[in-house]
Amino acid sequence: MPTELQTYASYTANTSVGGATYVDDWIDVAERGFGAAWQLRPQRARTRGDLMSFLSFSNQPLFTREEIARKVHAVSISRGLDELATVITLMTIATEVGANGQWWCPWNQKDPSSKNYPHDSESDDGRSVGYFQQQNGSAGETVGGSDNWWGSMQSRMTIDHAADTFLSRLANEYGSARDNAGLAGEFAQRVQGSAFPDRYAQHWDEAWDVLRRALPGQPTPTPGGNGGFTGDPVWLEDVLREALGDRLVVEPGWNERGTGGTMGDIWGVMIHHTGNINETVDHIRDGVQQPSGFLPGPLAQCLITSDGKCHLIAVGPCNHAGIGSYPGLGTNNGNRRLIGFECCWPTPRPDLPLGYDPQEQWSTTQIIAMRDATAAVLKKLGYGSARVIGHKEYAGAAQGKWDPGNLSMDWFRTEVQKDLDGFVFPGEQPVQHPDPGPVPVNPPILQPPPNERSDRQLLEDIWDQLRGPGGNGWSQLGGKTVVDYLVEIGEFATYLHRQLDELRAMQSVSGPNGQSGAPAKKAAAKKVAAKKVAAKKTPAKKTATTVAKRTVAKRTAGTRAVAQKTGANKTGAKKTAAKRAVTKKSGAKMTAKKT
Ligand SMILES: [Zn+2]
Repeated sequence: MPTELQTYASYTANTSVGGATYVDDWIDVAERGFGAAWQLRPQRARTRGDLMSFLSFSNQPLFTREEIARKVHAVSISRGLDELATVITLMTIATEVGANGQWWCPWNQKDPSSKNYPHDSESDDGRSVGYFQQQNGSAGETVGGSDNWWGSMQSRMTIDHAADTFLSRLANEYGSARDNAGLAGEFAQRVQGSAFPDRYAQHWDEAWDVLRRALPGQPTPTPGGNGGFTGDPVWLEDVLREALGDRLVVEPGWNERGTGGTMGDIWGVMIHHTGNINETVDHIRDGVQQPSGFLPGPLAQCLITSDGKCHLIAVGPCNHAGIGSYPGLGTNNGNRRLIGFECCWPTPRPDLPLGYDPQEQWSTTQIIAMRDATAAVLKKLGYGSARVIGHKEYAGAAQGKWDPGNLSMDWFRTEVQKDLDGFVFPGEQPVQHPDPGPVPVNPPILQPPPNERSDRQLLEDIWDQLRGPGGNGWSQLGGKTVVDYLVEIGEFATYLHRQLDELRAMQSVSGPNGQSGAPAKKAAAKKVAAKKVAAKKTPAKKTATTVAKRTVAKRTAGTRAVAQKTGANKTGAKKTAAKRAVTKKSGAKMTAKKT
């Protein structure tokens, strides 16, 4: 089923389609503003020298082959690609920098800043550096314009950045090499432009072996990770308003509009051009007459016009993607898995042979709105910029689509990624969120460890220790509490002191003869011992009395005995409290003195 507006026909009929011949590839000069970006990049002029030759190796490579495979595969997953993409990448690395059963990351004296980044070997292959032997047009840390084909030195010397660059250039049709080492090698060659194109295929088995070892027992991760959303994106209005403000125009009934059914697991965003800069909301909403018949609307969730307005039109599946496929997205299911942005472009030019100017510059405000809207949706989905594709990347082979025209999707993805990363573009006001103030930190809810005693249990423990089991005094202390017994000891010590003082006084009266002193002391000690025994006897007597009383009470009435007992305890408690207060006071005094 044809899925484009009628106006496309005139373009597709006369324009080369397919991955290789797009008029695209904007120079990335967004930091200087969009105005300068609209220049066509000159054809890539990349020369490669002979195969890798190493001057030296470290004892150990920076990473094992399996570690490299895991890093590369993570990049593939983040780009929505699969194991085959990883294998083609690993074949390339194995060919470029494989030696001694390892994969190396060489620096190169002819591009000396490469030495500033982690490396494990040195090469003299032209000015090539890093795992992919990537070499820009001229030497240097970062070069501009068409020389910057492989990115900055840091990118070229860092495995995941370099792999990302490689994968961004891997042809979309690489899936056709699934069981074909030779074809896989050709895809590698198309990126690398090597003088020895046949060498890549020789590393097919090695690449698969390393990857299988690197991902043992793991199911192949789902491309895109844990983000995503299944069902109609009812949140579009909120998400787009936050990103676009008054650039969002909500068309009435948008949230009840679709071609039928509901959206599935939303994969990402697809960018289109309408084929006419003056395309209207009516057509996108209601459908268009095509040579093959009427194509019912809605034709996209949004129409982004050249004035930078984003018209929100539909929530359900729309007739925009049609037949086609993309790695990780599947085949012929784009309408249910992609949010479509139709973008008004280009201007009809009856005076030109094609009826339009294929190099017509897009409206800057429009591109910015496309970028902001795309980034907002991908942010909501939790995906990176790899999840926005052009219709030409999905349907190029199947339908001959070339939209969105001369807009490079690689360049657009880079811009979207900057937006996702929080980059503030020239002239852009960072979104002002009211200062939420300090974020309240909720105290963590502590779960008591197993077998931990509660506060009450601890207090009961202390109570028992002080007052004896059950608060009934310690049998070892003659039924006394700890405090009562301490008081008794204190009183006894005072008594002993007094006795000693008396003995000393007697000694000094009896004369200075040291001989008589010793027996006197012994006698005093004996006396003291006797007193001690007496002291011990006293509580024992008391206890006996109590027991006798209790026995009587028991005989009389059980209840009364209980009452008596309780009363005794209470008195004891009062006493103890009073004594404790005294003890505390003296303690405080002592402390004060010390200070
Ligand atoms: Zn399209």
